Amino acid sequence: MAMMTAEQYEESLRRLNLMVYMFGNRVENVVEDPIIRPSMNAVAKTYEMANLPESRDIMTATSHITGKTINRFTHIHQTIEDLVNKSKMGRLLGRATGCCFQRCVGMDSLNALSIVTYDIDEKYGTQYNKRFLEYLEYVQDGDLTCDGAMTDPKGDRSLPPHKQRDPDQYVHVVEEREDGIVIRGAKAHQTGAVNSHEIIVMPTIALSDEDKDYAVSFALPSDTEGIIYIIGRQSCDTRKLEEETIDVGNILYGGHEALVVFDNVFVPWERVFMYKEYDFAASLVEKFASYHRQSYACKVGVGDVLIGASQLVAEYNGVERASHIRDKIVEMNHLNETLYCGCLACATEGHREPSGTYAVDTLLANVHKQNVTRFPYELSRLAQDIAGGLMVTMPSSSDFKAPETKKWLKKYYKTRRGIPTENRMRILRLIENLTLGTAAVGYLTESMHGAGSPQAQRIMISRTVDLEAKKRAAKKLCNIAE
Ligand code: SF4
Ligand code: FE
Repeated sequence: MAMMTAEQYEESLRRLNLMVYMFGNRVENVVEDPIIRPSMNAVAKTYEMANLPESRDIMTATSHITGKTINRFTHIHQTIEDLVNKSKMGRLLGRATGCCFQRCVGMDSLNALSIVTYDIDEKYGTQYNKRFLEYLEYVQDGDLTCDGAMTDPKGDRSLPPHKQRDPDQYVHVVEEREDGIVIRGAKAHQTGAVNSHEIIVMPTIALSDEDKDYAVSFALPSDTEGIIYIIGRQSCDTRKLEEETIDVGNILYGGHEALVVFDNVFVPWERVFMYKEYDFAASLVEKFASYHRQSYACKVGVGDVLIGASQLVAEYNGVERASHIRDKIVEMNHLNETLYCGCLACATEGHREPSGTYAVDTLLANVHKQNVTRFPYELSRLAQDIAGGLMVTMPSSSDFKAPETKKWLKKYYKTRRGIPTENRMRILRLIENLTLGTAAVGYLTESMHGAGSPQAQRIMISRTVDLEAKKRAAKKLCNIAE
């Protein structure tokens, strides 16, 4: 089996025995849990769309190891076209789900490791790349969803890992055995963790000789003994428990994040892709970060949904012809398409690494992600401007049903002839979901901090931009001698 259907994916999750906690309780059935299930639906969409004729070309690729048709989320980019299709796939899925579909972190980890394991072997004569490619074939054949786990809790940010009061603030090796290593620590903000078959761990910062026990990368089945998941809270999450669905906004899909704890977990050698090569930690972080910054093509697709919702609410309210509304919709499209330019540009300006993997242009990927830290906020501001205050003052959908209140709400919340009040409610709740509710976790705060906070991109921009060349260009035009 090289590709699963959405149904097979769901069944495969049921077979996992994950240790998941939420609201202080163990979650026995992750797949059926009403708060988690919409996030599973979003990942399932990556399987469903890979099997649909209209999206198959973008969603699938040919494995460079086996020649089989595989889901692009398990593919190692072999060409510039692969990189471009990755950006297109992100937009497509963001538009289809209106949320984070969680599967990019795994793809980005696999691609970063395909480069760095090769580079480590070149320098040290190790065998990581061969090991990694065997693992990759397993992932591709099973069409597995992988959680790429990078961000450690970090404790006191002013101190490196080995100087932390609690040495577990960064994932590290606590024991070396003949058959593998034992690791301890945690990874925070893990997108889609409990919807994953595999967890791929990487270091989160550049490391020195003194931190070499922290220079470790490996992959484990997500239900390995000693791995514990604690699900993050999202604004308005318990609306998913209500009988009425309208107030949830996006009634089909959502995302989730978790703190993933590794409590003395054993990793066999065949699953270890970096061990004490601290001098490659920075490279792995940077490669993963650039790929993941490109992945924020997803926000363009979510932006499509928000623009569509804003236009609809304007039409429902009867204001769509007002010149300022039209101009705001133009502005939203301008911002959203500018984001699209960035994720396409870093792909088309990509290059081949010595391993054969194609990597995105680092400068342009960072510029793209820097825009992502800003534009969705402005798009949200404009959407809320167009939506009006009713988005946050509207009573619950139960009040629209209750005999004592429904006649008043129907009377005073009606709008243009032919537009059912319920449709107006639904679209307002969707905008609320995207800009204030559960989906704002992904569309706003994750746009800010996911794949690195804004300052991380500014550092990379200052490091990669060629200022000397720009100075030379200026000097030449006004005849300043070198
Ligand atoms: Fe993918 Fe976007 Fe979710 Fe990150 S935020 S995992 S890039 S969908
Ligand atoms: Fe992310």
